Amino acid sequence: MCLIGGLALATLLAEVLGRAAGLGALGADPGATDAGASNAGASNAGARNRVALTFDDGPSQRTTELLSVLHGAGVSATFFVLEDACQAHPAELQALLASAHQIEAHGKDHRHALRLWPWQEWAQVRWHPRDGAGAAPRLYRPPYGGHSPFTRLLTRLAGRRVALWDVESRDWTAPPGDTAQAQALAQATARQVRPGSVTLLHDGPAVTPELLRALLALLAARGLQPVRLSELPMRRIGLRAGLRRLRTTYHLS
Ligand SMILES: [Zn+2]
Repeated sequence: MCLIGGLALATLLAEVLGRAAGLGALGADPGATDAGASNAGASNAGARNRVALTFDDGPSQRTTELLSVLHGAGVSATFFVLEDACQAHPAELQALLASAHQIEAHGKDHRHALRLWPWQEWAQVRWHPRDGAGAAPRLYRPPYGGHSPFTRLLTRLAGRRVALWDVESRDWTAPPGDTAQAQALAQATARQVRPGSVTLLHDGPAVTPELLRALLALLAARGLQPVRLSELPMRRIGLRAGLRRLRTTYHLS
Protein backbone atom coordinates (compact mmCIF):
# COMPACT_ATOMS: atom_id res chain seq x y z
CA MET A 1 0.00 0.00 0.00
CA CYS A 2 2.89 2.31 0.84
CA LEU A 3 4.36 1.83 -2.62
CA ILE A 4 1.01 2.48 -4.33
CA GLY A 5 0.40 5.56 -2.16
CA GLY A 6 3.90 6.85 -2.93
CA LEU A 7 3.43 6.32 -6.65
CA ALA A 8 0.03 8.06 -6.58
CA LEU A 9 1.56 11.03 -4.75
CA ALA A 10 4.50 11.19 -7.20
CA THR A 11 2.04 11.12 -10.13
CA LEU A 12 -0.03 13.90 -8.58
CA LEU A 13 3.07 16.03 -7.99
CA ALA A 14 4.25 15.40 -11.57
CA GLU A 15 0.87 16.63 -12.82
CA VAL A 16 0.53 19.68 -10.58
CA LEU A 17 4.14 20.84 -10.28
CA GLY A 18 5.57 19.40 -13.52
CA ARG A 19 2.83 19.89 -16.10
CA ALA A 20 0.46 22.52 -14.70
CA ALA A 21 2.94 24.79 -12.90
CA GLY A 22 5.92 23.76 -15.03
CA LEU A 23 8.29 24.46 -12.12
CA GLY A 24 11.93 24.21 -13.15
CA ALA A 25 11.15 23.75 -16.85
CA LEU A 26 12.16 26.37 -19.39
CA GLY A 27 9.46 28.96 -20.02
CA ALA A 28 8.89 32.66 -20.58
CA ASP A 29 11.73 34.95 -19.60
CA PRO A 30 10.43 36.57 -16.39
CA GLY A 31 13.01 39.37 -16.66
CA ALA A 32 11.51 40.38 -19.97
CA THR A 33 7.95 39.80 -18.76
CA ASP A 34 8.51 42.17 -15.87
CA ALA A 35 10.23 44.69 -18.12
CA GLY A 36 7.81 47.44 -17.22
CA ALA A 37 9.02 47.42 -13.63
CA SER A 38 12.72 47.52 -14.43
CA ASN A 39 15.03 50.24 -15.61
CA ALA A 40 16.91 48.36 -18.31
CA GLY A 41 19.54 50.22 -20.26
CA ALA A 42 19.14 50.94 -23.95
CA SER A 43 21.69 48.23 -24.81
CA ASN A 44 19.29 45.35 -24.11
CA ALA A 45 16.11 47.19 -25.04
CA GLY A 46 15.95 45.05 -28.19
CA ALA A 47 15.99 41.82 -26.19
CA ARG A 48 13.07 43.06 -24.15
CA ASN A 49 10.87 43.17 -27.23
CA ARG A 50 11.51 39.54 -28.10
CA VAL A 51 8.86 36.85 -28.07
CA ALA A 52 8.89 33.26 -29.34
CA LEU A 53 6.38 31.44 -31.55
CA THR A 54 6.52 27.65 -31.26
CA PHE A 55 4.78 25.05 -33.44
CA ASP A 56 4.09 21.57 -32.06
CA ASP A 57 3.09 18.24 -33.66
CA GLY A 58 4.57 18.75 -37.15
CA PRO A 59 5.70 18.30 -39.75
CA SER A 60 2.36 18.17 -41.55
CA GLN A 61 0.63 19.09 -44.79
CA ARG A 62 0.52 22.62 -43.30
CA THR A 63 4.30 23.04 -42.80
CA THR A 64 5.02 24.56 -46.24
CA GLU A 65 2.36 27.23 -45.77
CA LEU A 66 3.57 28.08 -42.25
CA LEU A 67 7.15 28.39 -43.53
CA SER A 68 5.97 30.67 -46.30
CA VAL A 69 4.05 32.95 -43.87
CA LEU A 70 7.08 33.13 -41.55
CA HIS A 71 9.40 33.79 -44.50
CA GLY A 72 7.12 36.55 -45.78
CA ALA A 73 7.35 38.29 -42.41
CA GLY A 74 11.10 37.66 -42.09
CA VAL A 75 10.49 35.89 -38.78
CA SER A 76 12.16 32.86 -37.18
CA ALA A 77 10.28 30.35 -35.02
CA THR A 78 10.78 27.03 -33.24
CA PHE A 79 9.21 23.72 -34.32
CA PHE A 80 8.79 20.82 -31.89
CA VAL A 81 8.41 17.83 -34.20
CA LEU A 82 7.21 14.26 -33.67
CA GLU A 83 9.09 11.25 -34.99
CA ASP A 84 5.98 9.65 -36.51
CA ALA A 85 5.05 12.96 -38.21
CA CYS A 86 8.64 13.21 -39.54
CA GLN A 87 8.26 9.76 -41.07
CA ALA A 88 4.88 10.67 -42.59
CA HIS A 89 6.14 14.00 -44.03
CA PRO A 90 9.83 13.57 -44.99
CA ALA A 91 9.86 16.43 -47.52
CA GLU A 92 8.43 18.87 -44.98
CA LEU A 93 10.99 17.67 -42.40
CA GLN A 94 13.81 18.36 -44.86
CA ALA A 95 12.40 21.85 -45.49
CA LEU A 96 12.38 22.49 -41.73
CA LEU A 97 15.90 21.17 -41.20
CA ALA A 98 17.20 23.25 -44.11
CA SER A 99 15.52 26.40 -42.79
CA ALA A 100 16.86 28.90 -40.26
CA HIS A 101 14.16 27.89 -37.77
CA GLN A 102 14.98 26.04 -34.56
CA ILE A 103 13.95 22.38 -34.72
CA GLU A 104 13.45 20.53 -31.43
CA ALA A 105 11.83 17.34 -30.12
CA HIS A 106 8.20 16.66 -29.21
CA GLY A 107 8.81 12.90 -28.83
CA LYS A 108 8.44 9.76 -30.89
CA ASP A 109 4.65 9.84 -30.81
CA HIS A 110 1.96 11.92 -29.16
CA ARG A 111 1.25 9.77 -26.11
CA HIS A 112 0.94 11.41 -22.69
CA ALA A 113 3.87 10.53 -20.41
CA LEU A 114 1.54 8.65 -18.05
CA ARG A 115 0.69 6.23 -20.86
CA LEU A 116 4.34 5.21 -21.23
CA TRP A 117 6.36 2.69 -19.24
CA PRO A 118 9.58 4.26 -17.95
CA TRP A 119 11.67 2.50 -20.65
CA GLN A 120 9.26 3.76 -23.33
CA GLU A 121 9.50 7.28 -21.92
CA TRP A 122 13.30 6.99 -21.98
CA ALA A 123 13.10 6.31 -25.74
CA GLN A 124 10.58 9.15 -26.04
CA VAL A 125 12.82 11.80 -24.42
CA ARG A 126 16.02 10.55 -26.10
CA TRP A 127 14.71 10.89 -29.65
CA HIS A 128 15.66 14.15 -31.35
CA PRO A 129 15.24 15.22 -35.01
CA ARG A 130 18.80 16.53 -35.12
CA ASP A 131 20.37 13.36 -33.77
CA GLY A 132 23.84 13.07 -35.20
CA ALA A 133 23.93 16.72 -36.25
CA GLY A 134 25.42 17.79 -32.91
CA ALA A 135 23.37 20.96 -32.80
CA ALA A 136 22.56 22.54 -29.46
CA PRO A 137 20.39 23.28 -27.58
CA ARG A 138 18.41 20.09 -27.30
CA LEU A 139 14.93 20.85 -26.03
CA TYR A 140 12.10 18.41 -25.33
CA ARG A 141 8.47 19.45 -25.11
CA PRO A 142 6.41 16.55 -23.75
CA PRO A 143 3.11 15.90 -25.58
CA TYR A 144 0.34 17.85 -23.76
CA GLY A 145 3.14 19.16 -21.50
CA GLY A 146 2.34 15.91 -19.67
CA HIS A 147 4.65 14.60 -16.99
CA SER A 148 5.12 11.23 -15.33
CA PRO A 149 7.08 10.98 -12.06
CA PHE A 150 10.12 10.13 -14.26
CA THR A 151 9.92 12.82 -16.95
CA ARG A 152 12.32 15.35 -15.44
CA LEU A 153 14.87 12.72 -14.38
CA LEU A 154 14.86 10.97 -17.77
CA THR A 155 15.04 14.30 -19.62
CA ARG A 156 18.04 15.33 -17.53
CA LEU A 157 19.76 11.95 -18.08
CA ALA A 158 19.19 12.32 -21.84
CA GLY A 159 20.83 15.76 -21.78
CA ARG A 160 17.61 17.57 -22.69
CA ARG A 161 15.72 20.47 -21.13
CA VAL A 162 11.92 20.47 -20.83
CA ALA A 163 10.59 23.53 -22.70
CA LEU A 164 7.02 24.71 -22.02
CA TRP A 165 5.07 27.88 -22.92
CA ASP A 166 3.06 30.63 -21.26
CA VAL A 167 0.57 31.61 -24.01
CA GLU A 168 -1.74 29.20 -25.87
CA SER A 169 -3.13 30.17 -29.29
CA ARG A 170 -5.89 27.55 -28.88
CA ASP A 171 -5.63 26.89 -32.63
CA TRP A 172 -6.74 23.29 -31.99
CA THR A 173 -10.18 24.51 -30.90
CA ALA A 174 -11.18 25.63 -34.41
CA PRO A 175 -13.14 22.88 -36.21
CA PRO A 176 -11.15 21.32 -39.10
CA GLY A 177 -11.51 23.40 -42.25
CA ASP A 178 -12.89 26.39 -40.36
CA THR A 179 -10.47 29.29 -40.76
CA ALA A 180 -13.07 31.93 -39.93
CA GLN A 181 -11.95 31.99 -36.31
CA ALA A 182 -8.37 32.94 -37.22
CA GLN A 183 -8.74 36.65 -36.48
CA ALA A 184 -10.51 36.16 -33.13
CA LEU A 185 -7.97 33.54 -31.99
CA ALA A 186 -5.08 35.79 -33.06
CA GLN A 187 -6.50 38.72 -31.09
CA ALA A 188 -7.10 36.59 -27.99
CA THR A 189 -3.54 35.23 -28.28
CA ALA A 190 -1.93 38.63 -28.83
CA ARG A 191 -3.67 40.01 -25.75
CA GLN A 192 -1.78 37.51 -23.58
CA VAL A 193 1.64 37.96 -25.21
CA ARG A 194 4.17 39.94 -23.19
CA PRO A 195 7.85 40.59 -23.97
CA GLY A 196 9.61 37.26 -23.36
CA SER A 197 6.45 35.19 -23.94
CA VAL A 198 6.56 31.73 -25.49
CA THR A 199 3.40 31.09 -27.55
CA LEU A 200 2.13 27.61 -28.37
CA LEU A 201 0.76 27.04 -31.88
CA HIS A 202 0.39 23.84 -33.90
CA ASP A 203 1.71 22.62 -37.24
CA GLY A 204 -1.42 20.89 -38.51
CA PRO A 205 -4.71 22.77 -37.90
CA ALA A 206 -6.21 24.46 -40.97
CA VAL A 207 -6.70 27.70 -39.03
CA THR A 208 -3.06 28.17 -38.01
CA PRO A 209 -1.52 29.81 -41.13
CA GLU A 210 -4.24 32.50 -41.18
CA LEU A 211 -4.04 32.88 -37.39
CA LEU A 212 -0.25 33.25 -37.73
CA ARG A 213 -0.60 35.98 -40.38
CA ALA A 214 -2.95 37.95 -38.12
CA LEU A 215 -0.84 37.35 -35.01
CA LEU A 216 2.37 38.50 -36.73
CA ALA A 217 0.65 41.75 -37.74
CA LEU A 218 -0.63 42.33 -34.19
CA LEU A 219 2.81 41.64 -32.65
CA ALA A 220 4.55 43.87 -35.19
CA ALA A 221 2.13 46.70 -34.36
CA ARG A 222 3.29 46.44 -30.73
CA GLY A 223 6.96 46.36 -31.72
CA LEU A 224 7.36 42.75 -30.56
CA GLN A 225 9.93 40.72 -32.49
CA PRO A 226 9.42 36.92 -32.79
CA VAL A 227 12.71 35.01 -32.48
CA ARG A 228 13.89 31.41 -31.99
CA LEU A 229 13.82 30.09 -28.42
CA SER A 230 17.63 30.06 -28.42
CA GLU A 231 17.57 33.83 -28.92
CA LEU A 232 14.95 34.67 -26.29
CA PRO A 233 16.38 33.23 -23.98
CA MET A 234 14.03 31.01 -22.00
CA ARG A 235 14.33 30.90 -18.21
CA ARG A 236 13.55 28.26 -15.62
CA ILE A 237 9.93 28.67 -14.49
CA GLY A 238 10.08 29.87 -10.88
CA LEU A 239 7.45 30.08 -8.17
CA ARG A 240 5.66 33.23 -9.38
CA ALA A 241 5.48 32.19 -13.03
CA GLY A 242 4.61 28.65 -11.89
CA LEU A 243 1.65 29.83 -9.81
CA ARG A 244 0.45 31.96 -12.71
CA ARG A 245 0.73 28.94 -15.02
CA LEU A 246 -1.07 26.74 -12.50
CA ARG A 247 -4.02 29.16 -12.33
CA THR A 248 -4.30 29.31 -16.12
CA THR A 249 -3.99 25.54 -16.53
CA TYR A 250 -6.86 24.84 -14.18
CA HIS A 251 -8.84 27.95 -15.26
CA LEU A 252 -8.65 29.38 -11.76
CA SER A 253 -8.42 32.92 -13.05
ZN1 LIG B 1 1.58 18.20 -29.17
